[in-house]
Amino acid sequence: MSTLPPCPKCNSEYTYEDGAMLVCPECAHEWSATAAAEGAGEDARVIKDSVGNVLQDGDTITVIKDLKVKGSSLVVKVGTKVKNIRLVDGDHDIDCKIDGIGAMKLKSEFVKKV
Ligand SMILES: [Zn+2]
Repeated sequence: MSTLPPCPKCNSEYTYEDGAMLVCPECAHEWSATAAAEGAGEDARVIKDSVGNVLQDGDTITVIKDLKVKGSSLVVKVGTKVKNIRLVDGDHDIDCKIDGIGAMKLKSEFVKKV
């Protein structure tokens, strides 16, 4: 009768729409229908660079500002090219390896896709 997703909290199938929200009558959980659609699996998370390009695993990016490497005196210079990035969860959402520095994590807001 309905194609609404089950409640993310209790898995009840009796969810109903209330405006832009979905409501579960069994545990009273309310959530946004749009967020539910976007949040379908972690792979659906979209990470964008500083200018709005969507980043993917294996992309090559350049750094758009000097970035200090935590716990060292090293600096990743603006314009540094980084190949084969890997997207991860967290505040620093790019995992990568930089020549001369090694493995480190970057914030997507400080990079640009090549
Ligand atoms: Zn529920």
